[in-house]
Amino acid sequence: METVQEKNAYQASSQGYYGTFGGAFIPEMLYPNVEELRENYLQIISAPSFKKEYDDLLKNYVGRPTPLYHANRLSEKYGTNIYLKREDLCHTGAHKVNNTIGQILLAQKLGKKRVVAETGAGQHGVATATVCALMDIECIVYMGELDIERQAPNVARMKMLGAEVRPATCGSRTLKDATNEAMRHWINNPVDTHYIIGSVVGPHPYPDMVARFQSVISEEIKWQLKEQTGKENPDYVIACVGGGSNAAGAFYHYLDDLDTKLVAVEAAGQGISSGHSAATTALGTPGVLHGSRTILMQTEDGQVVEPFSISAGLDYPGIGPQHAYLYESGRGTFLSATDEEAVAAAFELTKLEGIIPALETSHALAILNRLGATTSETVVINLSGRGDKDMATYMKYIN
Ligand SMILES: *Cc1c(COP(=O)(O)O)cnc(C)c1O
Repeated sequence: METVQEKNAYQASSQGYYGTFGGAFIPEMLYPNVEELRENYLQIISAPSFKKEYDDLLKNYVGRPTPLYHANRLSEKYGTNIYLKREDLCHTGAHKVNNTIGQILLAQKLGKKRVVAETGAGQHGVATATVCALMDIECIVYMGELDIERQAPNVARMKMLGAEVRPATCGSRTLKDATNEAMRHWINNPVDTHYIIGSVVGPHPYPDMVARFQSVISEEIKWQLKEQTGKENPDYVIACVGGGSNAAGAFYHYLDDLDTKLVAVEAAGQGISSGHSAATTALGTPGVLHGSRTILMQTEDGQVVEPFSISAGLDYPGIGPQHAYLYESGRGTFLSATDEEAVAAAFELTKLEGIIPALETSHALAILNRLGATTSETVVINLSGRGDKDMATYMKYIN
């Protein structure tokens, strides 16, 4: 994790701004909670005792460092040198636990007795319920009533882990409604509750805090690539973007290394102009979403447009404010892949390398044929998660 003074043009200012994006646009009722976090988070997470606990859990509980694997057959197919950062091998099957481990330790230091979270597909809910079980902290996860029906296995996991899953019954009964309920809960229980947000979104300091917890990904890539190739900077780092936490972690230590191109891949759903898409930078405009100024999909009068993607983790109408800035400044290259392209890429990786990726991750793999990387170049793809949770979808494509 970086400490405050270091870096730089693409990191959050002290008020949480990345250019004109970021900040904390919150109702007054939420102000004391967010302010308590903002005042304390840097000091707490940069203390040596915190780092020691965090690193120890990442090593012995999560299973870090995750391997950096040179994918021979995939490299041959695309005529370049491809390395896979294996976040799919983390405990619970994805990168999300890097963040929930950090936040549960932070909650403990702040003296919180209870954790609240929102979840869409249930992946962040499971990662949160996991660390709450580990630390014996009460856990309440809000989930849209419709999502509870659609994601039964993750609901069962959260309950088995001891979490209380509370249905959000208003509106479209999905993620946005669960977020509203979780916020309301936090407002009503400011003293004893910590709210664990699952991506680099929300009011400052969440985007910066979550990016710091995920930055272990690029910290490891640097020394692992150096060990394997003699050079710590690849030509490209590629990651999928829902809210953007796995990408933020994979990009973090490369932000100032301008010889490394940062490629973010969004979900185009059924196609960018199909009306069923989640390609935020292609379709969105600046505005405020979930407490920060960013780019989001909205109508002319500012109504959030319902996103669509085959992958639940990318089905989000915005991106984190840092990504909005990487897009606007040109530091990041933003591409998108359709549902169909993602599924094809998942089957290709599975056949070539014996690794079944998550549907989210498959979007990052799907742009390899458009990247234009040469035989002398090096590409790192952040393999954000494993595909076990997506087997019901993949099965529809197996005959
Ligand atoms: C949740 C999830 C994502 C999307 O979230 P980000 O915050 O954009 O990383 C991507 N991949 C996997 C495997 C996920 O579970």
